[in-house]
Amino acid sequence: MQILGNTTLATMLPSTVSYGLVKNGAVALREGKIAWAGPETDLPASYADWPREDLGGRLITPALVDCHTHIVFGGNRAREFELRLEGASYEEVARAGGGIVSTVTATRAASEDELVSDALPRVDALLAEGVTTIEIKSGYGLDIETELRMLRAARRIGRERPVQVRTSFLGAHAVPAEYKNRADAYIDEICLPALTEAADEGLVDAVDGFCEGIAFNPAQIERVFKRAEILGLPVKLHAEQLSDLGGTALAARYGALSADHLEYLGADGIAAMAESGTVAVLLPGAFYTLRETQLPPVQALRDAGVPMAIATDCNPGSSPLTSLLLAMNMACTLFRMTPEEALAGATRIAAQALGLADAGTIEAGKRSDLAIWNVSEPAELAYRIGFNPLHKRIFAGTS
Ligand SMILES: [Zn+2]
Repeated sequence: MQILGNTTLATMLPSTVSYGLVKNGAVALREGKIAWAGPETDLPASYADWPREDLGGRLITPALVDCHTHIVFGGNRAREFELRLEGASYEEVARAGGGIVSTVTATRAASEDELVSDALPRVDALLAEGVTTIEIKSGYGLDIETELRMLRAARRIGRERPVQVRTSFLGAHAVPAEYKNRADAYIDEICLPALTEAADEGLVDAVDGFCEGIAFNPAQIERVFKRAEILGLPVKLHAEQLSDLGGTALAARYGALSADHLEYLGADGIAAMAESGTVAVLLPGAFYTLRETQLPPVQALRDAGVPMAIATDCNPGSSPLTSLLLAMNMACTLFRMTPEEALAGATRIAAQALGLADAGTIEAGKRSDLAIWNVSEPAELAYRIGFNPLHKRIFAGTS
């Protein structure tokens, strides 16, 4: 039992007040849950003898949720980054072993221990900024054994660090070299059996895919979604990142938790998302790294009432980013989201994108996952670049 007093609460509850702000607030924590939150003068008498910590006016927000990462992988792509900047062509990079193939090769060669120990420093960078929930995808194995190993490594991260891990099976991420031009056979022989095995082992919280010309078409993705449906697992999708193939509308038809990237999303897809309640996960780190120019349709999503989340998309190729605060800043600067939308997108809406009903806001009954910041107003979190004002992170009631 504990009271955190003399604080400003950005509850992030939908309200007429920006950020659901409560000045001179207090929050009571008990057994990993929020017991009470509100103005300190309204604190019920029954809490009077609880130990109280004075936070000196600091801001408390819900802990941050990174709802889209590929943080478990082997190797890195720094050399490829360097080659490109030295003027190498796409082909020369590929011939030097670059691209996603190099990550697949390095991931297949890594043991579960190596995958975990490589990922932990990246995870720690997120936790140092107040993150308490991380989604982690498979998708660099592209064979049954390595897809399962990635998911086991992801689950282990949740045991080795004070963080809640949610896993997504992403067998339909890319077609491996040995199945070149045989994407349907890959789905039949590797992706679907790996999904079923991983689900049987309790390794899968959601099922994801990459619907794109360079990956899988909507018909192939739909076969993966059908298997997810049989297994009782929710779906999400990388869609409309480089072209509009209608993946988002397909995902919405399957009641997807989220559709992610969305730079090329059109009006039909937006209407489908609004109808199904699918969250739009926007990934400014990939937009920045790939030097994209096509912006996601933020104003149209806003007009349609589609909730927008922000994530790092941490991965070795298109977004080697381990700062959710920087992703929030980029969402504002590059995508013209407001600082309030960015913070909601990294808390309440990010939790929604993972199907988590007990995280992302400060209210009685929610998990006591909180971030305490050395800032006086919440806009400062998205405003600063490369600065971490975290005072303390609380995970399940303990700091
Ligand atoms: Zn991704």
